[in-house]
Amino acid sequence: MSDTADPNPLNQVESALRHVKPSVRTLGAYTLKPYEPRIKLNQNESPFDVPQAVKDRIHAVLAERPWNRYPPFVASNFIQAVSEATRWPADGVLVANGSNELIQSVLAVVVGPGVSVVVPEPTFTLYRLRTEVNGGTVVSVPLRDDLSFDVDGIVRAARASDAAVVVLCSPNNPTGAALTRDEIQRVHDETDALVLLDQAYVEFGGYDAISLLDGRPRLVVLRTFSKAMAMAGLRAGYLLAHPDLAAEVHKAKLPYNINFFTECAAAEVLRARDVMHERVRAICGERDRLVAEMGTIPGLRVYPTAANFVLFRVEAPGISHRRLFDRLLAEYGVLVRDVSTYPMLERCLRVNAGAPEENDVFLDGLRTLMREATG
Ligand code: PMP
Repeated sequence: MSDTADPNPLNQVESALRHVKPSVRTLGAYTLKPYEPRIKLNQNESPFDVPQAVKDRIHAVLAERPWNRYPPFVASNFIQAVSEATRWPADGVLVANGSNELIQSVLAVVVGPGVSVVVPEPTFTLYRLRTEVNGGTVVSVPLRDDLSFDVDGIVRAARASDAAVVVLCSPNNPTGAALTRDEIQRVHDETDALVLLDQAYVEFGGYDAISLLDGRPRLVVLRTFSKAMAMAGLRAGYLLAHPDLAAEVHKAKLPYNINFFTECAAAEVLRARDVMHERVRAICGERDRLVAEMGTIPGLRVYPTAANFVLFRVEAPGISHRRLFDRLLAEYGVLVRDVSTYPMLERCLRVNAGAPEENDVFLDGLRTLMREATG
């Protein structure tokens, strides 16, 4: 430290922070409050772990593999498994530590000051955050009152702002609404933008857009292993796009970003996808049960969903959404997600489908607390 350094530690910190871009300092961070609930229904994870037989295969490979060596420069085992599962050419596949990293990479190579990104909102908050960190401008298109997508509005906004990217999250987090094939196609064909289509929840419902990729080099599809594939703890996701566009996005990724645990596990889990898909069917059954049963509880508005979670609004005047959230946690050990600070989602909570017995506890708690409130 130089002799001229300010002796006041607060001023010294400020002298470091003044180098951070003002556009970043004014942003809120992506955060999640830590809780340790008995029943965790707040992050849209799978209630099922990866099957033990698949874990055993992964452990065997990891035990053999020298840990002192870098992973392969290209995660070809993982990429090849994605290419086989999606029937999309391997040179149009990028893999990463979760789809978060791919959202970051795509926006990093496209967005800068003066660049517009159309984002239908409310949606996953990372699109806005990564656009703004890169100095770009979010052109927000509100969902309709029933929380469906306003496709005309999205197309109009993209054209009017000459947007470089339109982000579509289908099924949408946290609302659950999905876009049809026609709607995705319209957004692509009626604009000049890159369409960043985040399909983190598509195994649970909504149109699977992989077949739209052929002949549409402006379409980018993102997938994650954190939900249907039960691998949130290991961090894996992939991107499918035209190989020339994928090569450009690749430039924003760090070398060796995929460690060999992730590479090996993702490839093995993908190869076991038939078992995973059976479980997805069970999760969808539970999701449908939640929607049906929650729909009978007075004082709630339950929104239709194509994902593994359900959005609901606490409309009864006798209880606030926050009180319901707190009491579900304190009295039933059930953690849901408070999404009431998102635009349009006042008084809303989101719950994901858990194991049947977890959903039973949630439904019992919800019914009891709402009965008390609506008396
Ligand atoms: N997209 C959406 C819509 C999500 O909800 C999430 C996770 N909450 C992600 C991407 C990020 O997932 P990952 O764990 O693959 O980074």
